[in-house]
Amino acid sequence: MSEVTAFVEGWDFVQTLGEGAYGEVKLAVNQTTQEAVAVKILDLQKVGQNYDNIRKEICIHRMLTDKAIIQFYGSRKENNRQYIFLEYASGGELFDRIEPDVGMPETMAHKFFTQLIDGVDYLHCKGVTHRDLKPENLLLDELDNLKITDFGLATVFRHQGKERLLSRCCGTKPYVAPEVLTRKDYHAEPSDIWSCGIILVAMLSGELPWDQPTYDCQEFCDWLDKKINLTPWSKIDTFQLALLQKILHQTASKRHTIVNIRRDKWYNKTFHKSKGLTRNLSGSCHDSPDGKPVKRICSGNDLSPTSSFSRDEGSLGRISSSQPALTTHCSNQSAENASSIDDLVHGVSFSQPVHMDDMLVSSQLQCTPGSSQTPMQRLVKRMTRFFTNLSADQSFKAVTKVLDSMKYSWKKNPPRQITITTTDRRKNQLIFKVNLIEMDDKVMVDFRLSKGDGLEFKRHFLKIKAKCSDFISKTPVTWPT
Ligand code: ATP
Repeated sequence: MSEVTAFVEGWDFVQTLGEGAYGEVKLAVNQTTQEAVAVKILDLQKVGQNYDNIRKEICIHRMLTDKAIIQFYGSRKENNRQYIFLEYASGGELFDRIEPDVGMPETMAHKFFTQLIDGVDYLHCKGVTHRDLKPENLLLDELDNLKITDFGLATVFRHQGKERLLSRCCGTKPYVAPEVLTRKDYHAEPSDIWSCGIILVAMLSGELPWDQPTYDCQEFCDWLDKKINLTPWSKIDTFQLALLQKILHQTASKRHTIVNIRRDKWYNKTFHKSKGLTRNLSGSCHDSPDGKPVKRICSGNDLSPTSSFSRDEGSLGRISSSQPALTTHCSNQSAENASSIDDLVHGVSFSQPVHMDDMLVSSQLQCTPGSSQTPMQRLVKRMTRFFTNLSADQSFKAVTKVLDSMKYSWKKNPPRQITITTTDRRKNQLIFKVNLIEMDDKVMVDFRLSKGDGLEFKRHFLKIKAKCSDFISKTPVTWPT
């Protein structure tokens, strides 16, 4: 990415925030103002014939301006790369706050769920459906407010009051609604609402209820048979379960709408908001003793400073068992969709400013919060990391020794990155990377998901971390509030 750094004068690419099918997302910080921007960098060679989908993602994202949506600042195409400039979410991903098999405290799940419903309501009012709602696509800002992102599978389902049915089979199987997998036409809104229900299950129980909502999946059949004495349902409170039964209704037309959800008893439950919240080592929240917000303390265990309105889009959509995979889209029809969305958003242009700074230092960006932080302090608050007191080389040796003892298949990428390829409990592929970063007198061992299910990734992280306990730094690191 050196050429990227070179042409963005005045901006530092501080770290990689995440990876997707076609590229990566980097954190850019302005050297003078310290403003932060997330830059999605897509390799157009990898994107290939799917470029129309990228255009569609840009077209849709740029017309969304709600606080529950990651703000879109602009886009730029250069040197076979597509750059998309987005609001930086320093709180990381929602899945990072879900403790495997446990979930998170009810107050936290309630807050995130109501914010998610607000965001989805906004999208639907705009006639947009996301189609890939899952904790990995829900980011958190510095105040832990939820923000929806990744509009790579989003589409317009209502235009000038006229709804069209969808038929493309896409999304992430454990989160996808049953009707999406039937290869028949389906309504957009109930299918997004179903995904919100699965996200709520994940937040309340720390697990996903099934691999996919089909009759060949025993867990799904058990749910249809109302076997709520089984996990995850047995871990979930009566009121929450009552809501989930209405949201995860197999028949889309009988499923709760957003209006119904907003009338639900648990949804309307009030929690005492006056007390401050602190995050404990596992990422869950607890009230501070004096009710005041508490400075974040990072220990070795913890965090860090760290279309057209044609009826059909084709059924050759993107579908995966975990994160969307690199598969071919139905390009002709997607092209039609993208061009009609161009019309919808009125004259989208890809004309570029002379310097990227012209785009980055815009009036929007001057409002970017947190400009008093240093690049180091802007490191995303990821739970899937720890610190060691060893040197970088010693840390590398110690971590890889643990990986060998746990029989992981891994490879080294220069300078100090490890890629681990494995399968999860559902036999789906899981790929994650470990970066060793020298920071003052410590080395940060940072785990990041590349492909697969977020919760499964976290399960693996926790097991590896437990085996690394001998060399994890016990000295707390104070994180500025
Ligand atoms: P996919 O192939 O999964 O669709 P993608 O290329 O569309 O991926 P995103 O899902 O948008 O990329 O981003 C990948 C990861 O990068 C996210 O899961 C998140 O960890 C990080 N990320 C993306 N956008 C931001 C942002 N605005 N602020 C902070 N982190 C971000």
